[in-house]
Amino acid sequence: MAGQTIPSTGAAGVRGDPGSARGLAAGLLRQVPAWAVSMLVHVIILLAMALIVSEPPKADLRPKMIVSNAPESAEDIGDLADEMPDQLPMEEVTDPVVVPDAAVENVQVVADAEDLSAPAVAVELSDFGSELVQPSDLLAGVGGIAGQAGGLGGRTDPKMRQQLVLAGGGNAQTEAAVEAALKWFISHQMPDGGWSFDLAACPSCQGQCSHSGKSRAKDRCGATALALLPFLGRGYTHREGPYKKQLDAGIAFLAGMSLKGEGKCYGEDGTLYSQGLAGIVLSESYAMSKDPRLQLPAQLALNFIMTAQDPVGGGWRYSPKQPGDTSAVGWQLMALKSGDMANLRVNPLTVKKAVAFLDSVQSDDGAAYGYTDKSTPGPARNAVGLLCRMYLGWKKNNPALQRGVANLAKAGPSKDLYHDYYATQVLHHLEGDAWTAWNTRMRDLLLNTQAKRGHEAGSWYDGVDGGHGADAAGRLYCTALSAMILEVYYRHLPIYGQQSVEEDFRE
Ligand SMILES: [Zn+2]
Repeated sequence: MAGQTIPSTGAAGVRGDPGSARGLAAGLLRQVPAWAVSMLVHVIILLAMALIVSEPPKADLRPKMIVSNAPESAEDIGDLADEMPDQLPMEEVTDPVVVPDAAVENVQVVADAEDLSAPAVAVELSDFGSELVQPSDLLAGVGGIAGQAGGLGGRTDPKMRQQLVLAGGGNAQTEAAVEAALKWFISHQMPDGGWSFDLAACPSCQGQCSHSGKSRAKDRCGATALALLPFLGRGYTHREGPYKKQLDAGIAFLAGMSLKGEGKCYGEDGTLYSQGLAGIVLSESYAMSKDPRLQLPAQLALNFIMTAQDPVGGGWRYSPKQPGDTSAVGWQLMALKSGDMANLRVNPLTVKKAVAFLDSVQSDDGAAYGYTDKSTPGPARNAVGLLCRMYLGWKKNNPALQRGVANLAKAGPSKDLYHDYYATQVLHHLEGDAWTAWNTRMRDLLLNTQAKRGHEAGSWYDGVDGGHGADAAGRLYCTALSAMILEVYYRHLPIYGQQSVEEDFRE
C-alpha cells in the first residue's frame, strides 16, 4: 500500500543534512502524522491521474469523435416490461459518480479498501468458495473461474472452443448459425460505429428487417453493447478475428460513452440495464484484447455500477440508488464478474450487499427468486437468481440450487429468450442429463427459427413471445440473446467443471 510504504521511506530512508532543503523536507515529513502523508500521496496520485484522464485517447479507438455522434440512450432492454408497465420512464436521480473516486479506483496501488471508504477487505462470507484466493478478491473466489480471464479461455483458443462445442452438444450447425448472426450484426452497424434497436435508422437496412425496436431507438448504449456481446462470446475482438475494424469502431463507441459520462455509459433517458451490458462489454474487451486503452473506460463503467448500488437493499434497478430488482441485479453482477476476470477493481462490499439483495428476494431457501421481493417468483427471475448464486460461490450440490435447476429443466426452454438466455447458462454449468435434454430442445429451437434467407438472414425474431423487452427492443435484441445461447458451450467455461479440476489438483 502506498500509504504505508512511502511515509516510512520519508522517515527512515531520507536522512539528509537538516540544514539542506532535502533534510528539511525529511524533517518535516517525520513530524507529520502518517495519515496526512498518506493523504498527500493520494492527492498527488489523483493529480497525476487527472492528467492521464485528460489526455486524449490515441490511435484507432476514437472515443472523442464518436462521442459527438452518440445520441443519448433511452430505456432499458432487459426490464420485465410485462410485469412493470408503469415503471418507464424512469425517475430522475442525481448522478452520484465522483470523478476522483473513479480515478482512485483505477490506480491499483492505492485501491485498497481503506481508500475506497469500504470496510476491511477480509469480509467473511460463507457463500464464497475457495480459500486460496486473496481476501480482497471476493469475486475471484467465486465458483471455479477464479480471477484472470480463465472463464473466457474457451473463446480465445480455437481448439478448446471446438472441443467445448462438441462436449456441450453443439455442432457445425450451431457454429454456422452464430457466424450468420454476426454477419447480420455487421450489416446493421451504424456509420458512427454503434448499433441501434431502430433498424429503420440503419442506412443498410432502412426497415427491410421486420420488428425494429423503434421505441428503444435512443438506447444506443444498450443496442451497441448487446450487438458486441456475441462477437466477444465467439472470441472476436478489435485485435482478433475477421471483424477487427468493425469491432474497433463499436468498442470505441462504448468506450467513448463511458469516458464522456465519467463511467455512466447511458444517456439521460437510459437505465442501469444498459450500463450493466456496457460494463460486461468493456470488461470482456479489455480482458480479451489486453488493450490498455480500455482499462480506464472499463474501470469507470464498473465504478459507476458500484456507486449506483442501492445502499440499503444492495440491488440495482433503473436509476442509481433505487431499490433493486432481480433482473437489473443480474446484469450488474455479470458486469462485476467480467471486471474481476479482467483484473479490474471490484469493491468486495458491493458484492456482499448484492448477496444480501438476493437473500431478500429468494424463497424456497434460494431455489426461487422474486422481482423486487420474495413474493413474486417466476421462471425468468428464478434463472437469473440461480445463475448469480452460481457465480457467487454456491456449490454444485447445494440442495436449493439443485431444486431450482430441476424446476427450470422440467419447464424446459420457452419462447421467452430472456428466460432462455439465463436458464441455458444455469443448465450448462451444471452439465449432466438435464443439460443434455435442455440443449437438444434449445439448440434445435433456435436453429429452426433463425431467418435463413434474404436480408434478415442470420437474425431471429420469429417464434418469440415478445416479453422481457423482445417486443420493444425487437430483432437486434432477440438476435443477440439467441446467438449467445448458441455460444453457451464456450462463452464461459463451466463453473463446476473447472472447480472439479482445481479440487483434484489440490489433493
Ligand atoms: Zn435489416
